[in-house]
Amino acid sequence: MSAKASPSIDAAAKNTPVSGRLFFLDLSAGRILSANPDGSDLKTIINEGRKLPDGLVLDVAAGHIYWTNMGDAKRNDGSIMRSDLNGKSMITIVPPGGTFTPKQLQLEKRSGKLYWSDREGMRVMRANLDGSEIESLVDTSQGDSRPGPDQRKWCVGIAVDTDGGKFYWTQKGGHDAGLGRIFRMRQKERAVTGAGVAGLAAAYRLSQRNWEVTVLEATDRVGGRVAAYHSDGAPEHKEMRRLCSRLSLPLQKHQYANSFWNQTARASLSAPGSWCMSPKSDAIWKNFQKKFRTSTPHQWRQLDKIDYSNGRHYGFRSIGPTESGHGPCTV
Ligand SMILES: Cc1cc2nc3c(=O)[nH]c(=O)nc-3n(C[C@H](O)[C@H](O)[C@H](O)COP(=O)(O)OP(=O)(O)OC[C@H]3O[C@@H](n4cnc5c(N)ncnc54)[C@H](O)[C@@H]3O)c2cc1C
Repeated sequence: MSAKASPSIDAAAKNTPVSGRLFFLDLSAGRILSANPDGSDLKTIINEGRKLPDGLVLDVAAGHIYWTNMGDAKRNDGSIMRSDLNGKSMITIVPPGGTFTPKQLQLEKRSGKLYWSDREGMRVMRANLDGSEIESLVDTSQGDSRPGPDQRKWCVGIAVDTDGGKFYWTQKGGHDAGLGRIFRMRQKERAVTGAGVAGLAAAYRLSQRNWEVTVLEATDRVGGRVAAYHSDGAPEHKEMRRLCSRLSLPLQKHQYANSFWNQTARASLSAPGSWCMSPKSDAIWKNFQKKFRTSTPHQWRQLDKIDYSNGRHYGFRSIGPTESGHGPCTV
């Protein structure tokens, strides 16, 4: 946040009464003006030149004006500014680069947030009143680089329904194309991509904090790279099962792929529930299972800390799909 003097404001503006007045933008001259409702006593409050101010909102109780500067629509130089109601004490709230082409602006006093539409940036954004925590609430780009060329993705208008917990925005469409649209979203709504452990954990945490979460998963099962395998004598994995049940994750039979062992050869997938192991490896595994049945709970807890890479002590590293442990699968 930086402070700078506002050039060329009317000398008398600083003494202008602020109640019962209109505040409005002069886009092409880059000015904010104030006048009585009948048009008298017109004063220039802010004059920044060709920065193309486009959204304006007042916080009368705090004595502040906030406005957006679109900047050059082809450059990532949009910004959001604040000054006192008389134009003094101008500071940058969102610096150039924090938003692409900010258009309409709304203040949500209760949460202390500014909401705005970013046209060529193809986003609906918000930030705290001091410019911290800049977020993209909606990103309509679908992979387009900014500045976005498709006007149907341009976000322009914004309205916040504080009591209803929703915000609304418009997307423009081409000139006179009849393609303009109005959208609505809950303020506490998020989409998480991928139902792997990371995505599910993020969605779970958000939902615990009353966010409405949609998880988008490309495949027909959740869990990502993690799946459960049950083998004789294996621990019950009570914690993991409890978590799966809380997250409504179905358990399915393990399918083993050799690519884990032999990364250069083409992977072959074992039948669901079976292992693709050599006789020697099978013997090591069965021996381990026998020992496991007579292990103490403390030893089971120690085992839970072991994975393939640090399980040498138990002989796991010598278990492989072939006698050598790293050759192609021979059943
Ligand atoms: C053989 C193997 C052994 C491992 N052993 C261990 C171990 O011993 N200990 C350990 O801690 N870790 C281990 N890992 C790593 C661990 O499994 C992963 O780090 C973890 O599962 C990754 O979780 P994730 O949610 O980040 O990603 P993933 O589990 O890969 O989940 C990503 C999900 O996102 C979905 N997705 C991707 N793109 C899109 C899209 N555009 N739209 C919608 N959905 C999408 C995918 O379909 C998938 O379901 C192992 C991994 C492998 C493969």
